[in-house]
Amino acid sequence: VSTPNPLDRLLEPAEATAIIRAHTLLLPTERAPLIDLAGRVLMEDLVSDEDQPPFAAATMDGFAVVSGDSGPVRRIVGDQFAGTMEALHVEPGTAAYITTGAPLPPGADAVVQIEHTEQTPGGVRIGETPRAGQNIRPVGSDRTRGDRVLAAGTALTPAAVGLIASLGRMDALVARRPRVSVLATGDELVAPGQPLGPGQIRDSNRFALVAALAPLGVTIRYAGLAPDTDAAQRAFLIERIADSDVVITSGGVSMGRKDLIKGLLVELATVHFRQVRMRPGKPFTFATATAGAAGRTLLFGLPGNPVSGLVGFEVFVRPALLAMQGHAHADRPTARVRLAHDVTPIDRIDYLRVALRRAADGVLDAASTGPQQSSRLASFIGADALAIIPPRATPYAAGEMVDALLLNPV
Ligand code: AMP
Ligand code: MG
Repeated sequence: VSTPNPLDRLLEPAEATAIIRAHTLLLPTERAPLIDLAGRVLMEDLVSDEDQPPFAAATMDGFAVVSGDSGPVRRIVGDQFAGTMEALHVEPGTAAYITTGAPLPPGADAVVQIEHTEQTPGGVRIGETPRAGQNIRPVGSDRTRGDRVLAAGTALTPAAVGLIASLGRMDALVARRPRVSVLATGDELVAPGQPLGPGQIRDSNRFALVAALAPLGVTIRYAGLAPDTDAAQRAFLIERIADSDVVITSGGVSMGRKDLIKGLLVELATVHFRQVRMRPGKPFTFATATAGAAGRTLLFGLPGNPVSGLVGFEVFVRPALLAMQGHAHADRPTARVRLAHDVTPIDRIDYLRVALRRAADGVLDAASTGPQQSSRLASFIGADALAIIPPRATPYAAGEMVDALLLNPV
């Protein structure tokens, strides 16, 4: 009888998440150019050093006039287009043609939109009684000098990137993109385009993982395939620990004699846990290694079963990759959903792939995407969420509410 290895202690998913989070450091920062900011997180406060707009500007195409002037027809003194500053002066009895965004000529205090005017041989007829200030954006109405326009921690949406550009910046301080390496392991795996020999299957995990990484703002250092040999897998790990922030392997972390990743991670890194009380994806190794002076590499040993790997990625890897870039909301949002059918619980949390549909009463109904075995990648097709089914003594009945991790917006 051997004593149980403490590394094999079965953790609840929440405990595993907490351990990963505790080892996930913010990546060093860099200045990235405007065109490379989308989806990243700002690491500095940005203060406006100018007023926006810097001049009073028309918000409509029309005529700049004096509001107190009651004469219906006014002489046109000139054109004021956006992008220039003409030497025009508007006084009672006159008007200047003006376009949206153009500076208001001195003397004018209102803009009458073109639809409310009519050109006449003597000038322009104003069809309304203008109010002082109408259709004018005053100096600094969007922001004033000294305003903190964006705070550190802001996720760089298109609007935020636009704001940075409008501040006159050419770049902004953000976390460096995580460098990620991926390795699929397995003697049975063949690369795309190769014929299948006896006992072989195609490598799908490498490509599913690369696709899962694509929207997360990472740089993929390497994505390859290795046989179940100590030499190949050891070389990969040594090399990629040295040059990657995150190393993701697929396969080789369960109980088989050719599950080599498990042992190599103990040897080459510090393993924090390797079993999580969940389905799919119970074998899941999390380790860390020191790379170079200040660097730290997170290593995720995903199980080889395609669905198990992707669920492990969703639940543990994705949040870590976002957190290290500074995202405050690294976890997928959750929602309460209503089971569309009975569900038999198991002895650990079951992450059921479900399709969601908004029912007539406004509640999200969750229906299984079909057979849920961990080899069946198609169970992810059409899945909007992972319904979280905690263990319990009695079956879940259709109509019961459970939590779900949302994979798609609903
Ligand atoms: P393992 O975790 O290495 O024991 O693999 C578990 C199961 O997943 C086995 O049936 C493998 O053939 C399968 N598998 C492992 N790696 C891959 C992969 N890259 N693509 C598709 N299936 C895989
Ligand atoms: Mg294997």
